[in-house]
Amino acid sequence: MYDWIAKIFSRHVSCFQCGTKMTRKAAFSVKLNTAEGPFTMHACTDCAGEVNDVLKAIEEVRHDASL
Ligand SMILES: [Zn+2]
Repeated sequence: MYDWIAKIFSRHVSCFQCGTKMTRKAAFSVKLNTAEGPFTMHACTDCAGEVNDVLKAIEEVRHDASL
């Protein structure tokens, strides 16, 4: 099978931070708006809390910058 097909139909995703493989359902999706467009990352539950803190920090920076 072609790699890209396997990727599209794979029910497993890797945590962007620690690389842990988990099912899509168990993964915590992080949606980011980047210069290249919307981008979704997957994080395991262990990293999700950390990711939330990072996202909060980013939002705060954005907020500060817009003042
Ligand atoms: Zn993780």
